[in-house]
Amino acid sequence: MRRKRPERTARRSRERYARRLVRDRERLAQLTPGGSEERPIEVDSPAVIEGRVGSLRCPQCDGEYALDDHQSAGPGMRVVSVTCRMCRVPRQLWFRLGSSAPS
Ligand SMILES: [Zn+2]
Repeated sequence: MRRKRPERTARRSRERYARRLVRDRERLAQLTPGGSEERPIEVDSPAVIEGRVGSLRCPQCDGEYALDDHQSAGPGMRVVSVTCRMCRVPRQLWFRLGSSAPS
């Protein structure tokens, strides 16, 4: 009878799964609005950015973000550096200022 170590194998596969989950969530975060320069969140004015950040949640742990920095990233583009209050993962969120032309 071979002595296997089922508990160790289970732990390894759990760890592998957890790592993959983190990677997948990061990839998904990049695809969600605000997750990359190509997919900015449209806002009407810079004043509302803080409010939008407050309504977003960390893709890893669903924690709230703390706003660290807020920079211009070209014409009409804003990039906001945030850190998750729970898991401490730093992240950048992209915003584009929509035209304020009257509709
Ligand atoms: Zn988090």
